[in-house]
Amino acid sequence: MYIQITHKAQQIPPFIVMDVLERARALEREGVSIIHMEVGEPDFPTPTCIVKAGCQALSEGKTHYTHSQGILPLRESICEDYMKRYGVSVDPEQIIVTSGTSPALLMIFAAMLDSGDEIIMTNPYYPCYANMVNFIGGIPRLIPVSADVNFQLTPERVKRNLSSKTKAILINSPANPTGMSLSPSQMKSLSDLGVPIISDEIYHGIRYEEADHSILEFNDHAFVINGFSKRYAMTGWRLGYLIAPHDWIPALRKIQQNFFISAADFVQWAGRAALKEADPEVKRMVRTYRERRDTLVPALKKLGFRIPKVPEGAFYIFANCKKFSRNTYEFAFEILENAHVGITPGIDFGPMGEGYVRFSYANSLENILEGVERIRRYLESRRY
Ligand code: PMP
Repeated sequence: MYIQITHKAQQIPPFIVMDVLERARALEREGVSIIHMEVGEPDFPTPTCIVKAGCQALSEGKTHYTHSQGILPLRESICEDYMKRYGVSVDPEQIIVTSGTSPALLMIFAAMLDSGDEIIMTNPYYPCYANMVNFIGGIPRLIPVSADVNFQLTPERVKRNLSSKTKAILINSPANPTGMSLSPSQMKSLSDLGVPIISDEIYHGIRYEEADHSILEFNDHAFVINGFSKRYAMTGWRLGYLIAPHDWIPALRKIQQNFFISAADFVQWAGRAALKEADPEVKRMVRTYRERRDTLVPALKKLGFRIPKVPEGAFYIFANCKKFSRNTYEFAFEILENAHVGITPGIDFGPMGEGYVRFSYANSLENILEGVERIRRYLESRRY
C-alpha cells in the first residue's frame, strides 16, 4: 500500500544552511579546505565542569526517566539564575525542562494555537519559528523589520498587525540571525500592549556591551524559553526549558508527558552544574566571541558588506551584500564554490533576509581572518 506523506510534513521548507553545509562537506571530501562561517553553534567544547558533572551523574546511575517537569534541583537552579541575573522570582512549578529549547517552543505553540491563530514575529526570523507555527496549524504573522529598528519589533508596528486572531508576540533578543537586541524600554512597551509574549532568551549571556533583560522583568505573565546550547556550548546535550504562567503548566505538562516523557536524567544534572559552576568559562567564551566580532565587523565592511549597526550579542553578523548580488542564495553558493567559505544566505530567515548573508563567528580568529582573506581575493577577482 502506498501512503502519501502528509501535506504539512511536505510543506516544511528545508533549512538552506544545511544545503550549504552538505555541499561544504562534499567539497571537503574532495580534499578542499573550507572555512565554516555558516554554522550556528559554539565552536568551544562544553566546559569541563559540566562534562564532569554529566559523567558523574552517569556513573551514579542517573539514567532513568525523571519527573516530566525536570529534576527539582535543576529547576531550583534555574530559578536562582533568573533571580541573580534579572531579579525576578520564578517558582520551580512554572518550569518544564525540555530536550533543548526547540521542543519547548513546539510545546508552547501547541498549547496556544488553534487552527488559524496568529503569532506575531519579525521577518527576518529564526526559521523554525515560522515552520513550527505553520506545522501546528497557526499562522506566523511576519512583520518586516530592517536595520533602522535593529531588526526588532516596535510596538507601533505590532499594534498595526494585531487582530482577533493574535495569540502572542514572539521576541528573540539577542536575535538569530542579526545579533541585535531589544532595549528594556522596548521590551516594556511591547509588554504594555497586553498581548501574551513569548521570549526566546537562548542567546542570553552572549551579550557584549549591555546586560541582558528578561521579559519577566516587565511581565510576570510572559512565556520564556531558554536553554544551554549557546551560553554553555552544549548543543549536543539537548537541554532547554520553558517558564510559563502557573495556569498553563498542566496543559504543557501533559504535552511533555505524552510527546517527550522527560529530558535526559544525567544531562539535567550536567545542566545544574552549568548554572552553578560554569560562569567563569562562559565569561572567557564571551570575551573571545567579542574579540572575533570586533575583528570581523570592520573586515567585512572593508570588503564592501554593509553593517550599519554593530551586532550586540549572539555570534552572528547579518551583513547586507546587495552590492555584490541580488540573489543571496546564489551568492552564498558562489562564495562557497569559489572562495571556499561557508556562509548562510539571508533568505533562509524569511523574505526580508534577501540581500543579506549571515556570518557566524563561532570559529577561531585565525580561521575567520583566513575566511575574510579568501572572500576578499574572490571578490577582487570577480570584478574583472
Ligand atoms: N532559538 C534560536 C533563536 C536558535 O538560534 C536556536 C538554535 N539555533 C534555537 C532556538 C534552538 O536551540 P536548541 O534546540 O539547541 O536549544
